[in-house]
Amino acid sequence: MIRDRFAPSPTGNVHVGSLRTALYNYLFAKKNNGQFLLRLEDTDRTRYEEGAVENLLGALMVTGVVPDEGLFEEDGKIVQKGDYGPYIQSERLEIYKKYIDQLLENGQAYYCFCTKERLDEVREKQKRAGETPRYDGHCRNLPREEVEARVAAGEPYVIRLKLPEDHVVTFDDAVRGRIEINTNDLDDQVLIKTDGFPTYHFAVVVDDHLMGITHVIRGEEWLPSTPKHVYLYECLGWEQPQYVHLSNILNDDHKKLSKRQGDVSVGDFLKKGYLPEALINFLALLGWSPEDEQEIFSMDELVEAFDLSRINKSGAVFDRAKLDWMNAHYIKELPIEELTARMIPYLVDAGYITEADIEKRMPWLEKVGELMRERLNYFAQVPEETKVLFDRNFEITDQESLDLLKEETVPVLFNALVEKITESDVVDTERAKAILKEIQKEHKAEKIKGKMLYMPTRIMLTGEMHGPDLTLIMDVLGKEELLLRLDRMRSMIH
Ligand code: GLU
Repeated sequence: MIRDRFAPSPTGNVHVGSLRTALYNYLFAKKNNGQFLLRLEDTDRTRYEEGAVENLLGALMVTGVVPDEGLFEEDGKIVQKGDYGPYIQSERLEIYKKYIDQLLENGQAYYCFCTKERLDEVREKQKRAGETPRYDGHCRNLPREEVEARVAAGEPYVIRLKLPEDHVVTFDDAVRGRIEINTNDLDDQVLIKTDGFPTYHFAVVVDDHLMGITHVIRGEEWLPSTPKHVYLYECLGWEQPQYVHLSNILNDDHKKLSKRQGDVSVGDFLKKGYLPEALINFLALLGWSPEDEQEIFSMDELVEAFDLSRINKSGAVFDRAKLDWMNAHYIKELPIEELTARMIPYLVDAGYITEADIEKRMPWLEKVGELMRERLNYFAQVPEETKVLFDRNFEITDQESLDLLKEETVPVLFNALVEKITESDVVDTERAKAILKEIQKEHKAEKIKGKMLYMPTRIMLTGEMHGPDLTLIMDVLGKEELLLRLDRMRSMIH
């Protein structure tokens, strides 16, 4: 049975790169009828951030990257489910103790009493000598009695992995192929810290083994640590999992994706009104490619198409324009109820409508939604895009618009619009089209057509020279609003 896992540390906002890692694990497990676990790696207490776990579970839930086993949120509480728990590392200290004792017993790990000052000094010296900084092995061979006495006396210590000299560690990575490293190039990794907690490196190996993990799919930043993990598997007599290291997601400048170039957290994207389906679709294609040119994938289609052998070795650039394009595609496909429901919070936030308005204005709001369908890349654009509908008291300051309104045909156009709108029962798109057509026909002599018809009408009604289709705007504004707006223009036109 294939079992893989997403094993984040609770350190604040979920980076899109982490979501991609979780997604690939999810897809791989689903594709192979396997199981996908969520485990919390919280042994670094200094990096812990309040609310991070809730945040994480929330991001996975909304995007549909839901584990089969591990951590879940139920009624606002974090619960654990599965036969391999606990799934929170800080609750597994007893388990780690058993294996560290085994390593100490076998001479594969040792107590180290070096102070921070000493370690800093060693590092400085090595740096000055142009060497790669690493632990100098000072405590590797302390006599057992001395160790016992110092531990009994309460002296602080860490426990380190005792790497053999000149030993070649080998593993196969599904993306990068065979990797071999000589232990002479590795450091005696700390396994247990002074606070008694295991380091990530130790806990990850124990947990992956005990939880029956067959595939470790994770970011390439963990590649340099993998030989140490592999050596631990050797020491403990366990079979190593299949490693799959995913290349970094990159900024436009080909450096690792960072906040400098815009949003990077899943929460930021959702807040801006990117749809979870779009984000998932986009992230799936960042570092993996399907056999054909297909670009739009539902989660089920991704599961169907996903294949480890098509993961790219090189880093993928996070192309924000492509994400916008993809999100716009998903917005266009939304049922109108959902599109409107997703738009409404942005209208409320902008102060355009109140919560109390929503229900009675729903049919109208759905019209606004329809108007937005073709115009949005993401929902945070709603206030800007709908401004013309809500801001009746716009000012016209743009010189080109002002000049256009001074044209001698404009009062004629104005009067015709007022007259035709007044005598209409309703102004829907059809009627708006008819009105404009009639005006054009009736005022052929004055040459009120084309630009001289549409531009001044749009400016008088919205204050803008450009925007959504004019007849749609007129439909959404409706008869009364149209007349109110025209009336405000009266003194300016005549
Ligand atoms: N806790 C590690 C992280 O924060 C997990 C790395 C791994 O998957 O082994 O990314």
